Amino acid sequence: MEKKDLDWANIGFAYHKTDKRYVAEYKGGAWDEGKLVDDADVVLNECACVFQYAQTCFEGLKAYTTEDGHIVCFRPDMNAKRMADTAKRLEMPVFPEDKFVEAVCEVVRANAAWVPPYGTGATLYIRPYMMGTNPVIGVKPAEEYQFRIFVTPVGPYFQGGAKPLTIRISDFDRAAPNGTGNIKAGLNYAMSLHPIMEAHRAGFAENMYLDPKTRTKVEETGGANIIFITKDGKLVTPKSNSILPSITRRSLLYVAEHYLHMQVEEREVFFEEVPEFAECGLCGTAAVISPVGKINDHGKEICFPSGMERMGETIQKLYDTLTGIQMGRIEAPEGWVKTIL
Ligand SMILES: *Cc1c(COP(=O)(O)O)cnc(C)c1O
Repeated sequence: MEKKDLDWANIGFAYHKTDKRYVAEYKGGAWDEGKLVDDADVVLNECACVFQYAQTCFEGLKAYTTEDGHIVCFRPDMNAKRMADTAKRLEMPVFPEDKFVEAVCEVVRANAAWVPPYGTGATLYIRPYMMGTNPVIGVKPAEEYQFRIFVTPVGPYFQGGAKPLTIRISDFDRAAPNGTGNIKAGLNYAMSLHPIMEAHRAGFAENMYLDPKTRTKVEETGGANIIFITKDGKLVTPKSNSILPSITRRSLLYVAEHYLHMQVEEREVFFEEVPEFAECGLCGTAAVISPVGKINDHGKEICFPSGMERMGETIQKLYDTLTGIQMGRIEAPEGWVKTIL
């Protein structure tokens, strides 16, 4: 198959309109068959629930070319499950998990020419999403929905190596204790736009959010979970019911334990203990792990011993092992890598 003529290493993280997208519609209490379409525009009534009351949620995963030339994606069943959990919390119908995985494969196959070749560092980002589509003016869930998937090629996350980030403690809260922090809803991102722009204007890459109730415990950043490495080589990650359950983070915990034979702790992490850690990283599908070099707490700096030049040694090992599994260089645990083509 002829690949699209793109400068794969330099496409950045931006939307490119690809050839096909998937649409399924929910009406009268049931999903239709679903199909691939050419039209990238979504036309809805002005009063659609998604516009008025933000009844929308999404997922994000990647497809890529492995060393031996296959197109694969990473743990799509986990995204299907997470979207089902999200949908329930938002009173949206669940898109069947097996159909979710099939639809992901279908869209990627239909856009195979857009899947970046092995070795470019670029990947095909897959964005499943769902929204309430019929007019709703009194506050209630929609009765009709669209589940859609589009794909867009994205460049390597780190151009010229992963430089450690400087992040800051946010004075804003990300998620209420019994709110929606644990689901992948658009609304969590709408409210994060102001804090992230304020952080950027102040020269920081990201916000680290603390638990809103006591402001003593680490939660996550706006779009990534957090892992720490202790000085004696343990992996520690915050546990809280207002953190989004990152598939990357959960995979890294498994890799740490079963591939690197590290001790792993998922527990409450007090901000007070953060200066004791040796390394820190942000994890999510886009970057896998972004190293953190420094945390700014209202002018007081916490500098990790791993420094500002490169990833910490342990985080580098975790990164290499997980990306090795994803790219087919290291044997994957059963069911982690789904072959699409
Ligand atoms: C999507 C997301 C993540 C990362 O999840 P992955 O499944 O690893 O991509 C982390 N935090 C938030 C708030 C997210 O929305």
